[in-house]
Amino acid sequence: MSSVIINGKEIGQEIRTGVATRVKKLKEQGITPGLAVILVGDNPASKTYVANKQKSCEQIGMYSELVKLPEEISEQALLEQIRELNERASIHGILVQLPLPKHINEDKVIQTISPEKDVDGFSPISVGKMMLGQDTYLPCTPYGVMKMLEHTGIDVAGKHAVIVGRSHIVGKPMGQLLLQKDATVTYTHSKTPDLPYFTKQADILIAAVGRANFITSEHIKEGAVVIDVGINRNEDNRLCGDVDFEDVLGIASHITPVPGGVGPMTITMLLENTVQAAEKELERQEN
Ligand code: NDP
Repeated sequence: MSSVIINGKEIGQEIRTGVATRVKKLKEQGITPGLAVILVGDNPASKTYVANKQKSCEQIGMYSELVKLPEEISEQALLEQIRELNERASIHGILVQLPLPKHINEDKVIQTISPEKDVDGFSPISVGKMMLGQDTYLPCTPYGVMKMLEHTGIDVAGKHAVIVGRSHIVGKPMGQLLLQKDATVTYTHSKTPDLPYFTKQADILIAAVGRANFITSEHIKEGAVVIDVGINRNEDNRLCGDVDFEDVLGIASHITPVPGGVGPMTITMLLENTVQAAEKELERQEN
């Protein structure tokens, strides 16, 4: 079987063109959508992610502000900074780049972001609304995967989706979004015995593990759709996913590459959520 390689860069670009049009329209009405990104410390991977997010904002005419804070900042001072951004009218979305230094309570930080500005969709209020299928900001990576499937013409209804990984930011919400679209969902994780037994049943397999080339042909059913969320470095220090791409190619009906798959979709949905936040702000002003 020849596998279709899903081009996340291309799909993301298509969506961004639509988002850029909405930015232009908002600007004509006097609002420039603004994203504040808080970066604590000097983690090189975080710095790269943050730079990419900022660049993407600027490319579509949005305002982006980097709030760079020292590793040793106190939790209290960080919370104060978030409260200030919650109040600032020019900022519509706030993102705190994770992970945070160990002395800072991540839950507390995320809960301090105003739900109206929680464009990462990580706060308990956003998560609760997502679970109930209410209007909210969806977490960017799973949201991006859903858009990617939609744009590729893959209908998830009635399909068996197996998720490898159950983190709060990827695995868990991914399953919820698929469930809302009528997939049958199985979650697997590090305590799952005989992982291939489960993954081999997947019509749609989502790998969100964080281990280079962990998913191989042994895990995949012929004709499955394979979505690789992982971003890892292999022995040669090159970017790679959780899926052994070469090994699975030819077995999967569709597969996402790393880089150029889920990554660009994640940033696209962050832009989409921030523009949505600005549109909601305009609506509030008009009412
Ligand atoms: P976490 O480390 O938070 O979660 C990893 C999950 O994988 C856990 O649920 C863990 O299980 C599970 N797991 C670990 N080992 C195994 C195993 N041997 N068998 C089955 N399951 C296992 O990672 P994230 O969810 O934050 O990220 C996952 C990957 O996705 C990373 O590579 C990350 O860099 C990438 N990522 C990519 C994004 C993108 O835009 N493309 C965005 C966010 C993340 P348990 O719960 O039992 O410990």
